[in-house]
Amino acid sequence: MESIKELKDYAKENHVPIIQDAGLEFLLDSIKKYHPNRVLEVGTAIGYSAINMALAGTNVVTIERDPKMYELALKNIADFNLTDKIKVVFSDAKEALPLIKDLRFDLIFIDAAKGSYQTFFDLYTPLLSENGMVICDNLDFHGLCDKDDLHEYSRSLRSMIRKLNKFKEDLENNDGYVTEFNHCGDGMSISFKKR
Ligand code: SAH
Ligand code: MG
Repeated sequence: MESIKELKDYAKENHVPIIQDAGLEFLLDSIKKYHPNRVLEVGTAIGYSAINMALAGTNVVTIERDPKMYELALKNIADFNLTDKIKVVFSDAKEALPLIKDLRFDLIFIDAAKGSYQTFFDLYTPLLSENGMVICDNLDFHGLCDKDDLHEYSRSLRSMIRKLNKFKEDLENNDGYVTEFNHCGDGMSISFKKR
């Protein structure tokens, strides 16, 4: 796939949960504003957000555990001639720290399993540079995070929503970061490391 539109169409047809337009705009605006040199992305899927970030000028290291997604991302990144700008790490992000621990990141973009955001945050924020920041996607989770009554949903979905809400609460109260929540797209946050 050689155009952004093709990537988007593929994602739609194959139910790949790529970032929404408004969320992507927020992410790219942040990149244009703060000029992170190196970004860590947790959750590659087909490479859509990684390709967009690289086209905005950053270097990206992105982690994906699904072999099909990983292969597809590699192919798409090659089609865009971005293999120098994007490194895809094939691993569960819960286990990828040893593979990237010597790198420093100016931005961490968390967009993988929603129930594990706290784990990803705790694992990878030690790799943030001094002026580093963290952006998270899907914090509204299709509006479900604001619902009081979740009894019609499955136990695993309810557990995921609970974890996501707890993550947001802890993020807001984290003394090491100043966090802004933005209800664009599927709900985004940006957290600036305090100095
Ligand atoms: N950032 C992408 C979308 C990612 S969708 C974009 O906006 O274009 C979430 C992806 O995270 C899926 O491909 C899923 O396989 C992957 N994922 C979920 N949990 C993961 C984990 N623990 N480690 C690595 N990848 C994970
Ligand atoms: Mg997302």
